Amino acid sequence: MRKETGSYQPYSYFQLMEISLRELLVEKGVVTEDAIAGAMAAMRERGPERGAAMVARAWLDPAYKARMLADGSRAAEELGFEVPGLRLIVVENTSDTHNVIVCTLCSCYPRMLLGLPPEWYKSRPYRSRVVREPRKVLAEFGTKIPPKVQIRVHDSNADMRYMVLPLRPAGTERWSEERLAGLVTRDCLIGVALPQIPKKPKSRKS
Ligand code: FE
Repeated sequence: MRKETGSYQPYSYFQLMEISLRELLVEKGVVTEDAIAGAMAAMRERGPERGAAMVARAWLDPAYKARMLADGSRAAEELGFEVPGLRLIVVENTSDTHNVIVCTLCSCYPRMLLGLPPEWYKSRPYRSRVVREPRKVLAEFGTKIPPKVQIRVHDSNADMRYMVLPLRPAGTERWSEERLAGLVTRDCLIGVALPQIPKKPKSRKS
């Protein structure tokens, strides 16, 4: 039992399983508490930079893009991003297909490349609605997909994770890889947003 806001609540099944397993692994010397705390801290700090770097490379290097679409996990490793045990499938947005990702069952997400999933990704409304009315859900994110573009929804699971390769925005022809990566947000990689070139602030005489 643990104390929480004045009342005692029992641990849930999964909390108990996690604690038991962790204590056993530490007791048997497989891992240390410090190593677990370090891995959790690194996970919390991680953002979508790794996924964004892969996209920027793919935009600049057609051969890398082909390898990435054939095997996302290997393409991640090629850039030095470890994805042990993760089967990553990269889905490419084109002029006639837009891709969006969900885990209808729980919250499967390529955390090694995108960091922790946002709260809405794990929410029941997103998980149930995006498969039924993706166009409407995307519009609520401010992403209007033209009617002629079909939307494909990909359901992640424990064995495979998806990441979207967005379309490179027009007007970025001479951009460096680093600058291009800066356009790729977490939401672009999930497919609920499109990369946007920041508007130049209008100079105004005061
Ligand atoms: Fe899941």
